[in-house]
Amino acid sequence: MTVDEIATAVRASVAWLDAANGRDEASLTFRMLKLVEEAGEAAAAWIGHTGANPRKGVTHTVADVAGELADVALTAMIAIESLGVDHQETLRDCAVKIGARLELDRRDREG
Ligand SMILES: [Mg+2]
Repeated sequence: MTVDEIATAVRASVAWLDAANGRDEASLTFRMLKLVEEAGEAAAAWIGHTGANPRKGVTHTVADVAGELADVALTAMIAIESLGVDHQETLRDCAVKIGARLELDRRDREG
């Protein structure tokens, strides 16, 4: 799946949610809460991967964790797009910001 196909899936998900629930403030709030839910699932998968809970042992693979993190990423893109903001531009701006920070850090270390 290409970046454009992912963007199409994100926008289709927003349209599907809009059709089912509308896009009022309460609906947008649920979309933000969904992100927290997915983050919790990623945390649970990581805990399950490490076997940190002796009662449950190892319950998840790295692939499970990655899949849950992908849920987080996609849910965030849907939340961004639901605000009427282009998620691709937002992600690009974020990547540029991080790249600039890394470049500053590299220059600081090199003196
Ligand atoms: Mg999930």
